[in-house]
Amino acid sequence: MKSWQDTVYDNAIATWGKTPQLLVLLEEFSELQKEVLKNINRDKDNLTEIIDETADVLIMMEQLQRLYNIKEPVQQRIVEKLKRVEQRLRK
Ligand SMILES: [Mg+2]
Repeated sequence: MKSWQDTVYDNAIATWGKTPQLLVLLEEFSELQKEVLKNINRDKDNLTEIIDETADVLIMMEQLQRLYNIKEPVQQRIVEKLKRVEQRLRK
């Protein structure tokens, strides 16, 4: 059964389409980048903004994976890459 989140993601993609949603993803990346830079460079207390922009990016990343139908291979690659990181950490 479809979760309410699945319905929202499907409706967002159906309503706004692939290219606009991918452009929003890029916009959200840059908003998160800006907040992280403010935090590091200006020692700004902006955890609320970082949380907000991280949520935006994750929502749009979910849509990216749905648009390209790549959720499973991405999960596989995450496991493979994390295993490599784990090996590097053991050295
Ligand atoms: Mg945002």
